[in-house]
Amino acid sequence: MFNDDPILNQLPPIEDETIYSYLSRIGACTGLIILGYQPYSEYLFGTKRLKTPNYYLCDCLDNLIKRIGNNEFDCLSSSGAIIMNMTVFPFYSHFISRNISSSVIKELLTDTPKLNSVARKLKIFTLDNQIERNQVIKFCPECIKEQIYLNREHMVIGNYMCYKHRIPLNYIVAGNNSRYPKFINILSLDYTNGLPCINNSYLFYNHVADFVHSIFMGDFSDSLETIKDKIKYKLENMDFIVDETINFQKLNNEFTLYRELFKGVINENAISEMVFRKNPNSKNIMPIHYIYF
Ligand SMILES: [Zn+2]
Repeated sequence: MFNDDPILNQLPPIEDETIYSYLSRIGACTGLIILGYQPYSEYLFGTKRLKTPNYYLCDCLDNLIKRIGNNEFDCLSSSGAIIMNMTVFPFYSHFISRNISSSVIKELLTDTPKLNSVARKLKIFTLDNQIERNQVIKFCPECIKEQIYLNREHMVIGNYMCYKHRIPLNYIVAGNNSRYPKFINILSLDYTNGLPCINNSYLFYNHVADFVHSIFMGDFSDSLETIKDKIKYKLENMDFIVDETINFQKLNNEFTLYRELFKGVINENAISEMVFRKNPNSKNIMPIHYIYF
């Protein structure tokens, strides 16, 4: 039984490692990954499934925690600990309401797969950009020289720099749909693999990496309303808002970062709704870091 398997105590999770990465390493080290994706997944989660976990989240966590059993690692001590320490949930939960956040946690614990519904509620795939449209694993070549694992900060959509090493992340395309990944043996990753996510705008992407890191570290405590007000205040101060309307032409013409960021993937209505609507949970809301400049 996995519960009694000493491998669990021999293979400590790495700080900020995604649960996907950890289970992939466990599978590789125990040889269980050879069973194939579905049997291994079924073994871990006790239920027939095709889609768990993905690079960002993991559901059926109560089943998984039963399988893992008692262990010495804080981040694997409970389902809640996995959510907070080994998934991207703490980042995205900043940009949704408390009610939705609570319902997401409940869904991640049930034994019925809910990953797609949860990803939608967290708006993980709101930014449908070129790189992350595919099934992509992002990693820092310098980080994996030290230890091969996937860092959850690197998996945040649109984050393309390593906070620690200040170099662009590399990515490999592992399939054609990031919502349904299979277990890849990540121990076979090498620092020479993949392509850099970016070749320019390092200053800006360093800023994004800082922002992502600060949220995971809990240094960022602004509420959704406060963020919204700050963005509106900034746009007003820069004369991009006149008569409660955003002048997108001016914004496009004058704000290099804005052009760099949006590249037509986020529509202007979404920004208007974000800034002007009382209820910041409108379906058009976007991951805030893209305009939190
Ligand atoms: Zn790194």
